[in-house]
Amino acid sequence: MQYRPLGQTGLNVSILSYGASPLGGVFRNTDDQEGIRTVHTALDLGINFIDVSPYYGATKAETVLGRALRGIARDRYILATKVGQYDDGQFDFSAARVTRSLDESCARLGVDYIDLLQCHDIEFADLNQIVDETLPALVKLRQAGRIGHIGITGLPIKVFPSVVDRVGSGIVETILSFCRYELNDTALETLLPYFQKKGVGVINASPTGMGLLTERGVPGWHPATKAMVEGSRKAVEYCRSIGADLVKLAIQFATSHPGIATTLVGTASPDNIRKNVAYAAQDIDRELLGRVLEILRPIHNHNFTRGRPENHDPLVA
Ligand code: NAD
Repeated sequence: MQYRPLGQTGLNVSILSYGASPLGGVFRNTDDQEGIRTVHTALDLGINFIDVSPYYGATKAETVLGRALRGIARDRYILATKVGQYDDGQFDFSAARVTRSLDESCARLGVDYIDLLQCHDIEFADLNQIVDETLPALVKLRQAGRIGHIGITGLPIKVFPSVVDRVGSGIVETILSFCRYELNDTALETLLPYFQKKGVGVINASPTGMGLLTERGVPGWHPATKAMVEGSRKAVEYCRSIGADLVKLAIQFATSHPGIATTLVGTASPDNIRKNVAYAAQDIDRELLGRVLEILRPIHNHNFTRGRPENHDPLVA
């Protein structure tokens, strides 16, 4: 496993990291014991960064992850969770709620310290509140030693500079972007020089586009357009026809970008995490990559959007 520095946080994170949302049954009904074994396998194979949220499975992902982490030395993993988004699309970025949320997450996770606390999907928020209320509350928690670092997450990439440009240096230490640096969408790349200049660490999530580029395809709640689903299927089918695994290519594509500190992949299967770690250690097949990018070209950067209209990216399908 290779490691890269996460911005200026002083943390060195594995280039492939573990996204715990599947432990909440987000993609399919999962077996908790299998999920717990997946976490242990990830750690044993050198993954040292784990991301979760109280939103995933309405707190279930944090609860199962907490059971997995019980008894594991605290210095073996860097733990990130989030505040502001809760079950059934409820958002509350008030200082009181996010402060209480940290206590609740710590109790479920069985820890008294969170390495990275992130505002979850700020495109649904009034960004003035994030800047004026939520981030100052997180700074207080950081000063009190309850958390190590502060981040923000979102789908439309424009929300990141919208916030980072309005706060002092070192307030927002990381961004987590999802579905915007994967085989079918590379929009995040345009902002990487900006993050580098600002010293903000980049976490890339969902290398398969939350199932879009897998054999199983997208779950029912997935907001992908019909064109995206059909376009991605062509790549899945092509890879199957030549005996290649599109997930392998998707993971190698994301983890090989030096400007991205880490890529979070989700799974509740020990076999899948084993395969994914092995994929990240192998060189990408450039010829196959070229062919797959060509198949995906008609839908390149055609993504869905969501959140408040003022936070939407201009370029969407
Ligand atoms: P992903 O692209 O990692 O895809 C997960 C899907 O891929 C699951 O269905 C899983 O079963 C499947 N999969 C994984 N490995 C596989 C393999 N080897 N073969 C076949 N299928 C495989 O999407 P994700 O789980 O949504 O994203 C990863 C993590 O990133 C999440 O768990 C979460 O922690 C984080 N994330 C955060 C945000 C946010 O903060 N807003 C949004 C999305 C994701």
